[in-house]
Amino acid sequence: MRLNDRAHSLEYPPSYYAATRNDDHRYPVLEGRVEADVCVIGGGFSGLSTALHLVQKGYKVALIEQCRVGWGASGRNGGQVIGGFGSQTQKAIDKQHGADVGQVFWEMGVECCDIVRDHVARFNIDCDLTWSYYDAAARPNELRDLEASMEDEIRRGYPHKQVLISTEETRQYVGTDRYIGGLTNEGWGHCHPLNLARGEAKALADLGGLIFEGSEAQSITYGTRPTVTTDKGQVTADFLVFCGNAYLGDLQPQLSWKVLPAGSYIIATEPLEEELAQKLLPTNAAVCDQRFVLDYYRMSADRRILFGGGTTYHGGHPKDIIARMRPKMLRVFPELENTKIDFAWGGNMAMTLSRSPHVGRLADNVYFTQGYSGHGLAPSHITGKIIAETIAGQAERFDVFSSLTHLPFPGGKYLRQPTLFIGMLYVKLRDELGI
Ligand SMILES: Cc1cc2nc3c(=O)[nH]c(=O)nc-3n(C[C@H](O)[C@H](O)[C@H](O)COP(=O)(O)OP(=O)(O)OC[C@H]3O[C@@H](n4cnc5c(N)ncnc54)[C@H](O)[C@@H]3O)c2cc1C
Repeated sequence: MRLNDRAHSLEYPPSYYAATRNDDHRYPVLEGRVEADVCVIGGGFSGLSTALHLVQKGYKVALIEQCRVGWGASGRNGGQVIGGFGSQTQKAIDKQHGADVGQVFWEMGVECCDIVRDHVARFNIDCDLTWSYYDAAARPNELRDLEASMEDEIRRGYPHKQVLISTEETRQYVGTDRYIGGLTNEGWGHCHPLNLARGEAKALADLGGLIFEGSEAQSITYGTRPTVTTDKGQVTADFLVFCGNAYLGDLQPQLSWKVLPAGSYIIATEPLEEELAQKLLPTNAAVCDQRFVLDYYRMSADRRILFGGGTTYHGGHPKDIIARMRPKMLRVFPELENTKIDFAWGGNMAMTLSRSPHVGRLADNVYFTQGYSGHGLAPSHITGKIIAETIAGQAERFDVFSSLTHLPFPGGKYLRQPTLFIGMLYVKLRDELGI
């Protein structure tokens, strides 16, 4: 099964999520001239969170999406609701700004999951949100790192329960012999991401936000009131926010220069018998292993294993996603040898060199958020919120984020993707060898 990732499509790429979306409401194509306070480009979680937070502050927002709401990574991902921005990013902030600002940054990493929780409750979004997560360790050093991370979280005041799991207890969480332990986290979990995105879009529209699908931002005139032009219309606004992430292309080279698209892939099995489902994931946790190029998986509400990973760095997608992903799933769950695969899909994540989200401004009235490096479902909810805060005049938290240094990938326009590919071959080899 090959992925058709053609932009400007008015249909979702086939996936388990597209097949089980709650409804198929369509938003109009932008036609004619629209005036707004803020124009948001991109209808993924970054754009939806930015827009939702702005409309709740009273701004008139126009969000334009080239395909459908949640068409990009937001509607195709593993559905893992994971907080934080990565330990390296946290260390960089602690070092650059000291402990107090470091703590503010850390709190944003907790708050991002709270925003998801709040949106689901407040806007009554049916997206199978479940709070159960398991970080799986395959090697003693990984287990030691998880323990250290738990202690750090406790020291900082993490409000949710975490439990370090020994080898003997592992099968109570994941039914495999692949791991020697892990760490549970009740503050992280999983959901149906496309239904979350579509639910947030509905909330945005209900609150008066304008959403346009099938409306690609093709050119921009910058100035005191930027104008975004699509093939049939224009939006002129006081502020512009770029949220196109890995799918933005060359519309704004200063942004695409700092991220590279990397593919990730998921297969969904047929629904499992209850007994087998219980054996494989007894606590219904979302699971990630600790490798750089990791496996991530979880159970859907209708008891399918959704197994993800297989990252590509060459800029294309594999010819056959099932052939790529099924052996990875069977290494963890050999019991699924005779289980049918019903869906296979993938999408592009935007990687930054530092693997930290890239948030900032290009001018006083032009903002952007991108580059979550494979971990953006919850983080994009807080970056959208802090951009909304900044537009409303509160830039403290934004300033912490935008202080992170982001270098372009080495190799220039034509060689940076091959350079990343070669670098990642080395990292994958280290993963396989456990070094
Ligand atoms: C297969 C896969 C699995 C993943 N699993 C997880 C996971 O389990 N947990 C996790 O935290 N993260 C995961 N991620 C990452 C996560 O999905 C992303 O970080 C997050 O969704 C980024 O949201 P976004 O809104 O910034 O980008 P996107 O969701 O990609 O949205 C960008 C949108 O902008 C639109 N756009 C681009 N250019 C234009 C334009 N010129 N005009 C109009 N619209 C435009 C695109 O069509 C797209 O809909 C995964 C990613 C992939 C691909």
